[in-house]
Amino acid sequence: MDTLQKLQLLGQAAQYEPAEDVTPLGTPLAPPRTPEELTGCIHYAATPKGRVPIMKTLLSSACERDCYYCPFRAGRDFRRATFSADELARLFLSLHRNDLVQGIFLSSGLVGGGPKTQDRILATAELLRKRYGFRGYIHLKLMPGAERDQVAAGMALADRVSVNLEAPNDRRLARLAPHKIFTEELLQPLRWVEELRREQGGRGPSTTTQFVVGAAGESDLELLLTTHYLHLQLGLKRAYFSGFAPIPDTPLSEEPPNPPIREHRLYQASFLLRDYGFDVEELPFQPDGNLPHTEDPKVAWAQAHLTENPIEVNTADREAILRIPGVGPKGADKLLAARRLGRIGDLSALGKLGISTRRAAPYILLDGKRPARQLRLAL
Ligand code: SF4
Repeated sequence: MDTLQKLQLLGQAAQYEPAEDVTPLGTPLAPPRTPEELTGCIHYAATPKGRVPIMKTLLSSACERDCYYCPFRAGRDFRRATFSADELARLFLSLHRNDLVQGIFLSSGLVGGGPKTQDRILATAELLRKRYGFRGYIHLKLMPGAERDQVAAGMALADRVSVNLEAPNDRRLARLAPHKIFTEELLQPLRWVEELRREQGGRGPSTTTQFVVGAAGESDLELLLTTHYLHLQLGLKRAYFSGFAPIPDTPLSEEPPNPPIREHRLYQASFLLRDYGFDVEELPFQPDGNLPHTEDPKVAWAQAHLTENPIEVNTADREAILRIPGVGPKGADKLLAARRLGRIGDLSALGKLGISTRRAAPYILLDGKRPARQLRLAL
């Protein structure tokens, strides 16, 4: 199998790994060979260095573990491939020199244990940085069981590092991945990242994680409690909620896929925790610990708390403004800046700040008056 055949197999395989917010590059690509061979491994990704095309690939799709949901699990019959560190580094550089990619996301199936696999990932990144002088974006996956010095080495090479927790706790993980150990193998590398970041005065790569949603009987409450802990205690930048999709010839092949609306509500709720000052217990969970699919969690909170007690936008502090549906962190800052220039008297002034007046109107006061009637007249 030549290098480009491997890229086609491993690039497509990496699409099971959520990394950044990515958009597949659907346009025909340039040399080294045919465009079709490369499509599938290059994505536009929102990175800390802006929105850039990155190459997403695995070093190997061979794996010795047998996670129940995973297409790469040991013993599953499909065509596997493996890059050497130098082969992948040189392939990436040829794409970079042809201006096709500005960054790389690097992961792998496990071969020879977590530390050995981590060494191969680190060797690839080290070649890129040290031998070939690549200064662009690198996102490295930390393998289950990665050691502390490997985590430190990865942090020195990468702009982002991530660990796939897969489940919110050990009990749920056992239903997805019988040989992964939640605290020692998965959570510990994330703890080391935060510990090392603190030792470095807050400097270091950002961290993300991924959860498989809908295959372990976990509730949204469990997922969000863990996410909130990771944001607050371990400096996590972002949790990715990856809806379970059954893969043929795996133990979970007969399980139903997760409805995409659940992922959407989890993202909305996780942003409320991360950016809007909400606590987990304020979210509108149903008795089974799940969020209703029918309603944006912020709107549900506002209906319960602001319908009778609307927020006066001319006097409220930032924390209260962020509770208004239709107002995000940028909108709140613009509103506070606009207030320094004069009072906000009508909905059109809010609309000019990029705030959704339709969503906000039922929950606010403008100079002591409810603007709902203004909104009805305007519609
Ligand atoms: S460790 Fe588990 S999730 Fe990762 S590639 Fe192997 S089987 Fe898949």
